[in-house]
Amino acid sequence: MRLWVVKANENPESGSGGWHWDNYLFGTANDGQEWGGPDWVRSHCSKKLIREDVRKNDLVVCYQTERPRGAIRGLTRMASDGKDDPPDSGDYNLLNFVPPEDALNLDSGLDIRALYATGCHPKCFGPGSQGTIFPIEQPDFDAIIKALIGQSCVQEAALFKWLRGAGYLSRSQAQTAKNITSVRLPDDDDAPPRKVNLITQRVVRNTAKGESLKRLYDCKCQVCGYRVAVPRAGSGVYAEVHHLRLLGANHGGWDNRNNMLVLCPNCHAEFDAHAMAIDPRTERSVCYGRNPKSGKKLKFRRGHVLAPENVQSSWNCLFKTKPGPAQTD
Ligand SMILES: [Zn+2]
Repeated sequence: MRLWVVKANENPESGSGGWHWDNYLFGTANDGQEWGGPDWVRSHCSKKLIREDVRKNDLVVCYQTERPRGAIRGLTRMASDGKDDPPDSGDYNLLNFVPPEDALNLDSGLDIRALYATGCHPKCFGPGSQGTIFPIEQPDFDAIIKALIGQSCVQEAALFKWLRGAGYLSRSQAQTAKNITSVRLPDDDDAPPRKVNLITQRVVRNTAKGESLKRLYDCKCQVCGYRVAVPRAGSGVYAEVHHLRLLGANHGGWDNRNNMLVLCPNCHAEFDAHAMAIDPRTERSVCYGRNPKSGKKLKFRRGHVLAPENVQSSWNCLFKTKPGPAQTD
């Protein structure tokens, strides 16, 4: 499968009336669209490519060269090999595209300057490139795809579906844009994250206590009751343990079950951010902002109680970074 850029413009010096990709991309024809002809394709280079290299199912970047600047308007495929017109004349000047419904009409075309801003400068878009059809290298094609995604994530799904349908991407590649590793957005890192060596102290936790507590609750969140199912061997469920009073000398928390809650990741994050705590008087949750989990009575199973001083410690930290009234509805 080869990759092509096909240029169109509406002000041809040939006087044939010109072409605009919108006429094709917004068209309703059910069969292929022939494009070019003896009045249109005159470049010796283009004719040679059409005769020797253009093949059925090759991919085409639809480029409109209108002043003041060009834009990529869509993607399509060749419905046949390159053709000569008139037939059997040996004058290869005709392309044949798949029906418009099988092409990809980009919701928002890609301004060529937006492509240049990504660092991609295919020669065929530059000044002085004469002709109708140009081969394009895969890295440049991929850069165009990524620039389109970077410009409008809305069209990402349609784009990958089309590329898969056109045979350019495998199913797994189409399912995740990240699998296209040969292209990068302008703000992508071009190297793995830097690593530094640090000497640190960390609290050694007794994971056995936390694990036994998770088992006691069957990994169900004590606040919201949610249990995360995960596709792995063993229990197939996931929960986290939160220490109400933080461990370590600065905080005074102990690694005991009377300082632990079994939580889902969301509730854990809210406790850690001091956006949720347990009211020591009511043993109900109190949350920052409008949160449907406010006012929940925490669930406790036999054999697990919290020490009041640990509940109080967590309560004292509630809304610590942004004081505000407690809301319970
Ligand atoms: Zn939860």
